[in-house]
Amino acid sequence: DSILMWFRRDLRDDDNAALAEATRRARRVYCVFIFDRDILDALVDPADARVAFIHASLIELEAGLRQHGGALIVRTARAVDAIPALAAELGVDAVFANRDYEPAAKQRDAAVETALAAHRIGFEGFKDQALRDGAEVLAQSGRPLTVFTPYRNAWLRRFADDDIVPFSIQPGRLAVPPCAQGVPPLASIGFRPPADALPFQPGMSGAQAALTRFESLLGGYATARDFPALDATSGLSPHLRFGTMSIRRLVALAIGGARAGRDGAAKWLDELIWRDFYFMILDHFPHVVDGAFRREFDALKWESGATADRDFAAWCEGATGFPLVDAAMRQLRLTGWMHNRLRMLTASFLTKDLGIDWRRGEAYFAERLLDFDLAANNGGWQWSASTGCDAQPYFRIFNPVTQSERFDAEGSFIRRFVPELAAVPDRFIHAPWTLGELALAAHGLRLGVDYPRPCVDHAEARRRTLARYAAVKNGS
Ligand code: FAD
Repeated sequence: DSILMWFRRDLRDDDNAALAEATRRARRVYCVFIFDRDILDALVDPADARVAFIHASLIELEAGLRQHGGALIVRTARAVDAIPALAAELGVDAVFANRDYEPAAKQRDAAVETALAAHRIGFEGFKDQALRDGAEVLAQSGRPLTVFTPYRNAWLRRFADDDIVPFSIQPGRLAVPPCAQGVPPLASIGFRPPADALPFQPGMSGAQAALTRFESLLGGYATARDFPALDATSGLSPHLRFGTMSIRRLVALAIGGARAGRDGAAKWLDELIWRDFYFMILDHFPHVVDGAFRREFDALKWESGATADRDFAAWCEGATGFPLVDAAMRQLRLTGWMHNRLRMLTASFLTKDLGIDWRRGEAYFAERLLDFDLAANNGGWQWSASTGCDAQPYFRIFNPVTQSERFDAEGSFIRRFVPELAAVPDRFIHAPWTLGELALAAHGLRLGVDYPRPCVDHAEARRRTLARYAAVKNGS
């Protein structure tokens, strides 16, 4: 009657489904986190902020588990080898973990389950990451709902207050095995902290601080959420990514507000449901990992060659000459996070202004985002590229200048990340080239020297994009 609780992207002791259930079912519960070599070895930056975020969150988790009488075993190894070996060494009856919907994670878990079975040790996965998963929300036909609004309506119909009752640890069940020796230093796993302080406070305390800040903004979320300069969204995405905050607590807050008729809370609840929706899509349609959800769009002919490579580099660096696109890409580079409106804008710009394959942009975001989540990132990219399930129609193409005028009218966000444009008057900051060289020089700006000229003509790019998609639609 002992269980090994395997933490992955659920780094909290509070309201953790698998952990709580383990303490309900066994008298001794050991806890482990594996820095998985299969994941670490694929990271390119030894100062990757995500590894530092996880590391700091583990220190807090370990302290939390100690308060409950337990401890955390931390190892650096291949999880597929290390979990069965550790489970056998500890002599546990079963390994518990919270379910992960990514194809690679499902494959890993299946391999671990098979290896454990050879030792007659069980493996159980629990729903924790999503509020609804698997086949819980389906169409009447029994098929997955691939359009958001019907999914959301079905999700809401199925909601019951029991869904958000927090899971709690049974006292006296967590145990300290001799091999638990605290969280090893970051350097021992071959990583170092990022040069700048982490832009997000890690751990359960960081999640709580973000939530406390956001509670006062929730009322205004429906209107303020679209304006990047306002910092009016929760900033909880890294915490949801690593599970330092439970989705049930957030849904409880959102449902409470929505039931009280608050627009902000209802809108925010929709975003949390989008998160479940994309987990469900990834779970049921794993082909989206490297192909279009709507397979006919795999035939799209994207730009390639030297010009596309140069455009892609300019996009990554925030040097396209379109100020709001550049500000957004620099926000990503500098902070590891980007506002949702800007993720949509930059993804649209890459695919529809530069004609570059969404998979290249998706991979760049995956490398840079602290909140990188395969389901949401892939969903967001396929939405923007019009290849996704409930996507933006291909003929709806964001105009990068109009978007800038609407969502950053005074240019305050642009000025934050593109300081070379600071002196350009508000009216021209969205498209500085329209001001003329002489007038710009009066504001201390030389286009092509201090700040790039626009790398593409939007009207022309729009025509090319319409033709690119029409060719697929017409099957030519
Ligand atoms: P809030 O507005 O406070 O929303 C609360 C939470 O709801 C978020 O933390 C997130 O978990 C969830 N959420 C909000 N919008 C979405 C959405 N459209 N899809 C799924 N979940 C959502 N989100 C990620 O978590 N990881 C990603 O890798 C990611 N990549 C994206 C790529 C593109 C091209 C696009 C268009 C969107 C992407 N998103 C991604 C969704 C969204 O932009 C972020 O979740 C959001 O900006 C995070 O900020 P926040 O926590 O302040 O959000």
